[in-house]
Amino acid sequence: MKTSIKLNDQVRVIVGKDRGKTGKVIQVLPEDHMVVVEGVNKMFKHIRSPKRGEKGQRIEFAGPLRIGKVMLVCPKCGKPTRITVTRTGKKRNRICKKCKIAFE
Ligand SMILES: [Zn+2]
Repeated sequence: MKTSIKLNDQVRVIVGKDRGKTGKVIQVLPEDHMVVVEGVNKMFKHIRSPKRGEKGQRIEFAGPLRIGKVMLVCPKCGKPTRITVTRTGKKRNRICKKCKIAFE
């Protein structure tokens, strides 16, 4: 499946516990149809200390979300929107369905 969301895009979460949150895409996992959004879907990983008796660490990280759970926020009009992808030679443009302005 081709994804229209790229690294560093701003996206809005449309379903789930983080609905309404907006964040930057920090990782795209096209094989799994997932994206990782900064500050969204927070999870914790516990790391045990290698030394006995010492406290382990709790690391907070953003868990992956299904691409269908987020909507791209148009960098031109700032609204969450669907987009149309067009190609001009090798260059791929995305066009916002709301404001009709093309962006990369
Ligand atoms: Zn727009």
